[in-house]
Amino acid sequence: AQPPESKRAYAGPMFADLAGDIDVSFEFFPPRTDKMEESLWKAVTTLEPMRPKFVSVTYGAGGSTRDRTHATVARLVKETSLTPAAHLTCVDASRGEIDEIADAYWEAGVRHIVALRGDPPREGEAFRAHPEGYDCAASLVEGLKKRHDFEISVAAYPEQHPESGSLQSDLDNLKRKLDAGGTRAISQFFFSADAFFRFRDAAAAAGIDAPLVPGILPVSNFAQTRKFADANGTDLPGWLERLFEGLEDHPDARKLVAATVAAEMCRRLYAGGIRHFHFYTLNRAELSYAICHMLGMRPSAGGAS
Ligand code: FAD
Repeated sequence: AQPPESKRAYAGPMFADLAGDIDVSFEFFPPRTDKMEESLWKAVTTLEPMRPKFVSVTYGAGGSTRDRTHATVARLVKETSLTPAAHLTCVDASRGEIDEIADAYWEAGVRHIVALRGDPPREGEAFRAHPEGYDCAASLVEGLKKRHDFEISVAAYPEQHPESGSLQSDLDNLKRKLDAGGTRAISQFFFSADAFFRFRDAAAAAGIDAPLVPGILPVSNFAQTRKFADANGTDLPGWLERLFEGLEDHPDARKLVAATVAAEMCRRLYAGGIRHFHFYTLNRAELSYAICHMLGMRPSAGGAS
């Protein structure tokens, strides 16, 4: 008999035994200023030798970064060996506009889209579909697939999307997105490996067999993480808050704690069979690089294959 999930996780390998048999992907956001542009490309250059499966670039609320997302993704295609994935949302766009964006990506050589409904442009408002647009991610996936044969990733919520009525309806929705043509689901960030495993079990019971990739947020700024977590309904455990208590003026110690916490969660997820981790880098390489290193990955001079 299998030990209970939590015990199974603890029984996993030590860092020293991790062989690097994992895939990673990294998420970036499009820069707003020259200085941000510089730190993004520094992060990209640092992480490229880890040969990620893909790197994704977010799409700002309300399509506010449409051009910047495109420019960042196009530069990744031209100047790196990386495989970029462009995030795209339904917010404030007609189906015709989405077709135009999809065509431009296809022409630029982009073959992977992270298809999302998106959050409302203004915080606190409910999502309202564009009168000629898509009303949810599942219909966006369907539309994109009809236009071009993109590889498509979709979003998943181990602790439930805040607007979903129940776990079951959230899982039904996830299944619709995957059935419409999604290849994998990338999860919202979370801080409990057990919560992810419970979600994975529930997804399997709902007939979902596509890969569920955990989204890992290395926490270096606790206050900012609290804001993100409040907005998307992620449970922020008391132990995490206590770990960061008193470190406000100790940025180096904060980074060490952040890398340790995230690497430990990845180790538990690894013990439960996870072999692909998606890192929310916030355009900073250091933490993701350190965590990949602890998971046994080593850079390769040749870049991605
Ligand atoms: P959907 O899958 O359409 O679901 C939205 C809600 O509606 C859910 O509660 C779902 O259960 C419910 N629902 C949908 N259809 C039905 C139905 N038929 N019946 C009942 N309920 C239904 N946002 C951005 O703006 N830009 C980004 O770049 C971005 N990247 C992200 C990347 C990842 C990995 C994740 C996890 C999220 C990202 N987001 C991004 C946030 C995302 O846009 C929000 O979480 C948004 O509120 C939901 O998007 P979705 O694609 O999951 O929507």
